[in-house]
Amino acid sequence: MNVDRQLLYETVIQPGTGKALEVLRGQVLRIEQTEDGGQCADFNCFNLRDYKEHFHTARTRHVHGLRPTTGAFLWSAPPRDRPIAVVVTDTVGNNDILYGRCSAWLYDYQYGLPVHANCHDMLAEAEREYGLTSDDVHDSFNFFMNTGIDQDGRPFIGPNVSGKGDHVELLALIDTLMVANVCGADVMATNNFQYKPLRLAVYAGTDEELREHERRPEMRPTETQRTPEQFRVKEVKATRELTRDPSYVSEFINVPIELEEVSVALTDEDAALLDGLVQTGSFGKDRAEALRWAFHHWWIKNYMQGPKHLARESAEA
Ligand SMILES: [Zn+2]
Repeated sequence: MNVDRQLLYETVIQPGTGKALEVLRGQVLRIEQTEDGGQCADFNCFNLRDYKEHFHTARTRHVHGLRPTTGAFLWSAPPRDRPIAVVVTDTVGNNDILYGRCSAWLYDYQYGLPVHANCHDMLAEAEREYGLTSDDVHDSFNFFMNTGIDQDGRPFIGPNVSGKGDHVELLALIDTLMVANVCGADVMATNNFQYKPLRLAVYAGTDEELREHERRPEMRPTETQRTPEQFRVKEVKATRELTRDPSYVSEFINVPIELEEVSVALTDEDAALLDGLVQTGSFGKDRAEALRWAFHHWWIKNYMQGPKHLARESAEA
């Protein structure tokens, strides 16, 4: 998106370092390549008002796939389960949420390098500015990291294809702490085997940009869509050791689960189709199981609200 934005803050982070920045609702963080050659930025994002809510790679991967780019939300984990930021610009389109952040252990184990710059330590040090611990560093969004999955289902890292001036821009949908570091992988294709500095800049976003992303999926208050305050334990545990509460009595919600038998009248033709499904051996052992499979498959294909639904909505908007 080509938008004239007011610059609020900028800095260049050098190899081996990272920076935590407050990016308030409606503001935009740009992460930009300062040189040719390609540099990955590992990235964390927290709710500035409640650090227990943060970017969740799994939900984001589920909804937007393995290479989230322009238009993808950054989701937080259940029980919040909501978009906390959105990618509004991406000049490359090669981002990764498959790999974990690199760590001191990884360089020793895989490369025999017992001392090495690594993303976990850099994120932890940057987040220390806001009182977060090393355990608070979460799975990273790896911008400009070019990855895929091979035929055996294993992840691989391809060459970094970004060049000077390439950038991603993230619009904060809530008040956030965004943290980026220069990925420490100089022995992987992640950064084409050489470090480069990265520019971080915070801009004032436009009302129009924020409005554009207001129609986003939000939880609605029901018995099961609960906020953290509605769960029984509300306080964050201060001690490290886990001990059993002897007075604990389980109180699961949504129980008892009720099952109901439903009779379905089948034509001879329907019955023959179901028998065909049963004979394949993949869709249940009898007509009833095959019918459940066929019905749900049909419903999911036609009615499920999910990534395709989201794509359809934004295309219509
Ligand atoms: Zn790294």
